Amino acid sequence: MNSFRADLHCHTTFSDGTTTPEELIKLAKEVGLSALSITDHDSTGAYERAIIAAKKEGIILGSGVEFSSSNQEMSVHILGYDFDLADAGLNAFCHRHIERRRNRNLRIIEKLSARGMEIDPTYFESEAEKGLTIGRPHIAQILVEKGYVRSIQEAFKQWIGDGRPCFDPGTPFSADETIEVIHTAGGKAFLAHPHLMKDHNAIYRLLEKPFDGIECYYSKCLPSKEKKWMKIAEKKGLLISGGSDYHGAIKPGIPLGCSWVGQATFEAIFQRKL
Ligand code: AMP
Ligand code: ZN
Ligand code: FE
Ligand code: FE
Repeated sequence: MNSFRADLHCHTTFSDGTTTPEELIKLAKEVGLSALSITDHDSTGAYERAIIAAKKEGIILGSGVEFSSSNQEMSVHILGYDFDLADAGLNAFCHRHIERRRNRNLRIIEKLSARGMEIDPTYFESEAEKGLTIGRPHIAQILVEKGYVRSIQEAFKQWIGDGRPCFDPGTPFSADETIEVIHTAGGKAFLAHPHLMKDHNAIYRLLEKPFDGIECYYSKCLPSKEKKWMKIAEKKGLLISGGSDYHGAIKPGIPLGCSWVGQATFEAIFQRKL
C-alpha cells in the first residue's frame, strides 16, 4: 500500500502558528508525513527556512499560502498552491496585506482601548517589519497575557470574533483579485474550508469564479461533509485538496497530519517541488 500522506494546510510562526518552520518540518517527519504545503496567512516567509529544513529531513514541499479575502462582504479564505515563490506580484500582494493588517489591527486596538483594554499600538511593529503576519490570534494572546480574558477562545467569543464589539473587518482585498494574483504567479487557487461557511448559496456563487479546486478534507470534519464537497468538486471539474489547518499550541486538539491527501492528489496539484 502507498503510505504517502501530504498535509496541505498548516501554519507557522510566520503567521498565527506557534511552530517555527524548522519545528514544523521535524514534526511532519515525526508524524510520518511525506509531503507538506505550508499555508501561512498572507505570507510565504516560512519557505526560505522550510526549504532548507525539508531537504535535511526528506520532506517534499509544495508552495502554499492562505490569503484572506472578501466577496460580497463575506470573509473568504483562499489557498494558493504551486505558485512561483519568487513571483514579484504575489510578493507585493503579501506586502499589501501587511499594510492592510497594520491598519486593521490599530482599529481593533482602538476599540479594545475604548473598553478599557489597553494594548501598546507599537507592540507588533517589529514583527510586521520582519514580514510576519499579525492577526487577531496575536491580539487575543495579549488580551490573555494582560488578564483581560481567560483564554483565546474567550477573547474571540467576547470581543474580537466576527461581529463582536471590537471586531473590525478592515479593508479587505477581493476574492477576484486574490485568485488573479495566484494565477499570475503560476499557481492554483483553492476555496479553503467551505465546511466552515454558513451561507451555502454564497459559496455556490463564489464557486462561479475561476477557482482550480476546493479544500475537501479538513481537520476534524465528518466524512459525510467531506464527501459533499468532493461531489461538488467532481461535478465542477475542480481539483481537491486537504489538510489539518494545524496552528500548534494556539489551537490545541488539531494535530499536524490529522487531515491529509494521498500521492495522486498531491501530484495533481504540485508540478514544482521545492
Ligand atoms: P485574522 O486573520 O486576523 O482575521 O484572524 C483569523 C484567524 O483567527 C483564523 O484564521 C484562525 O486562525 C483564528 N481564529 C478565528 N476564530 C477563532 C477562535 N474562535 N478561536 C481561536 N482562533 C480563532
Ligand atoms: Zn490562522
Ligand atoms: Fe482559514
Ligand atoms: Fe488556516
